[in-house]
Amino acid sequence: MKPLLELTSHGLYCELGDFFIDPWRPVNKALITHAHSDHARWGCTSYLCHEHTVPLLQLRLGNHPYQGIAWGKSIFINSIEITFFPAGHIIGSSQIRVRYKDDTWVVSGDYKTKNDGISGSFEPISCNHFITESTFGLPIYQWEEQEQVYSSIRHWVKEAHEKQVTPVLFTYSLGKAQRVIEALAPLNIPIYAHGAIANTQEILIQQQHSLQPVIRIHNGLKPIDFSKGVVIAPPSADQTNWLKKLGPSQRAICSGWMQVRGNQRRRNVDKGFVLSDHADWNGLLSAIEATGAQHILATHGFTHVLTKYLNERGYQAETLSTLFGQDEEEQTNIETS
Ligand SMILES: [Zn+2]
Ligand SMILES: [Zn+2]
Repeated sequence: MKPLLELTSHGLYCELGDFFIDPWRPVNKALITHAHSDHARWGCTSYLCHEHTVPLLQLRLGNHPYQGIAWGKSIFINSIEITFFPAGHIIGSSQIRVRYKDDTWVVSGDYKTKNDGISGSFEPISCNHFITESTFGLPIYQWEEQEQVYSSIRHWVKEAHEKQVTPVLFTYSLGKAQRVIEALAPLNIPIYAHGAIANTQEILIQQQHSLQPVIRIHNGLKPIDFSKGVVIAPPSADQTNWLKKLGPSQRAICSGWMQVRGNQRRRNVDKGFVLSDHADWNGLLSAIEATGAQHILATHGFTHVLTKYLNERGYQAETLSTLFGQDEEEQTNIETS
């Protein structure tokens, strides 16, 4: 019997249901795990995603026929049962369960097992075949408690104010930015945002997500204003004229890659905070175990290390060669071994 999901030139395909999951080329029917650019691409005839993902796709891909669905509600496409479950990665991010008779596949998309209070809480879903990401699939990746990281960020902002320079935090606009902005709220200072982050934040607030408002950076603002608040910008804004206009600053980047010391030096920032929207090594292992699946297919990042580890422990694990792993955080992968 053919597997329920197979890799084709357009992406992960279910022939019986005639649909794709996170296809990388335009197709008829696309099921989308989340709104990051390596998973949600332009040009498909129809899209099915979690209801919180719809406005984000609208913002990033423009007008297409999007259909939103709630977590835990099943629908059938050509007798294949489809259900979305929270993946805890970013707002709307979902694992997709595909079920036919007694064969159950779960496509994790990107996920993190720790609840960030914004993205929904990751749920382990039992299945026979689990397609897992492995962006941080090396044992060196062990995240500190997020509250600890948030408190270090707040401390660093206060230090900047004492030095009378503007604290600038580089975060990815969808996911990390929302977490960092919430973490800064207790400081009660103005939070200034680069346009890319302000756009995302405004759309999410319009959609009734209870998130902190930000002040969009515009020409009427002066260095003196920024130095009493904090600036959030995407990493691409570093070393640009846009950044210079903010006046004297100290700069930090928030990313899982900051766990490897050399990466902070290579990015030439003053500080690196280890904060990720992906599961760490133990998070990946616990998520895999909790599914009960024997057959594990790994995508993104260090798949060879993860699959070797799993095979030695009795799983049937293999790499699934996809084109995922190019979203903003994943791209920052600089050599780590
Ligand atoms: Zn992602
Ligand atoms: Zn990804």
